[in-house]
Amino acid sequence: MNEIAGDIHLIVVMEKGSTEAQIAAIIEQLEKNNLKGELSRGVERAVIGVIGENITDDLRAGVAAMSGVGDVLRVSKPYKRASREFKAEDTVVHVKGVKIGGGADPVVMAGPCTIESEEQVVETAHRVKAAGAKILRGGAFKPRTSPYSFRGFEEEGLKLIKTASQETGLPIVTEVMSVRDVELVSRYADILQIGTRSAQNFMLLDEVGMLDKPVLLKRGYAATYEDWLLSAEYILAGGNTNVILCERGVRTFETYTRNTLDVAAMPVIHRLSHLPVIADPSHGTGHWHLVVPLSVASIAAGADGLLVEVHPNPDQALCDGPQSVTFENFELLMDGVNAVTEVGLRNRVPMRAQPVLAGV
Ligand code: PEP
Ligand code: MN
Repeated sequence: MNEIAGDIHLIVVMEKGSTEAQIAAIIEQLEKNNLKGELSRGVERAVIGVIGENITDDLRAGVAAMSGVGDVLRVSKPYKRASREFKAEDTVVHVKGVKIGGGADPVVMAGPCTIESEEQVVETAHRVKAAGAKILRGGAFKPRTSPYSFRGFEEEGLKLIKTASQETGLPIVTEVMSVRDVELVSRYADILQIGTRSAQNFMLLDEVGMLDKPVLLKRGYAATYEDWLLSAEYILAGGNTNVILCERGVRTFETYTRNTLDVAAMPVIHRLSHLPVIADPSHGTGHWHLVVPLSVASIAAGADGLLVEVHPNPDQALCDGPQSVTFENFELLMDGVNAVTEVGLRNRVPMRAQPVLAGV
């Protein structure tokens, strides 16, 4: 079992072109002082996270003076490994040849809320692939508010979505709800989804943090950005750096929509974190007719992808029919996404600081 790494209090930012020997010397110096150095290599420069409690000013000054060191900084945010301060460059998550994040074209993950039959999931997989989806979604373990609602076909469902994946070549994203099922779901899934209700199930976060498999971490429906990034921190601290964040709406006073999709999450997360962030306008609105406009808005705001519920016959869906789009509407959605992809990629570039206007 992996150990959960400790908190990072300080980061040593190396100069561009620093050598392996210089990095090794710093890690050795930290170890002599009962501290640990966690190396993170960026394209431009390496960063060493300093783990341990007793970091004196003398030690800090000594490390700052060592050769190859550019800067020694305190990480101001409570989440460390998830922060932009710790890693300046975007993380790109690779899933069977599909790139998510880092300015790659947005990746659309689509499919039914829940896997109902081989016919349903296979037909949906073919149709969403033809329209441009790159990943197939579908739930086999369904978190339901009422214990009497349909809760998914579990392993039988996983087998059906595997068939659809093998027929189309689309990788699978599917939810895991409990520590007990991580091993089982991992055998079928290419991306493990942690749902909104599990976003602060810390034992589950620890468990998926010990894998290499990509994790799609939904925002808790009452989670602040900080809560959400601290949930991601659990996974990163376990050693799994393949985390994709997913904004799926938060609970507000509005009752017309099921949740309020927070489109600001896209630029906010890109500012605070290096992790990719995608939007789920299906759960984010609860209405099929809002899914196309909110998908387009999220991509224009810089989302690295989307998670969309699509069903061959939404009126007959066992779960989340009212927010599921038909194949035809999914095609319209993809047209909209393609039309704003350039805008979104341009918006991912950090904006220049505004001049402060006197009296405003
Ligand atoms: C889902 O993706 O079907 C789902 C249950 O999502 P959430 O956890 O966002 O409600
Ligand atoms: Mn759903």
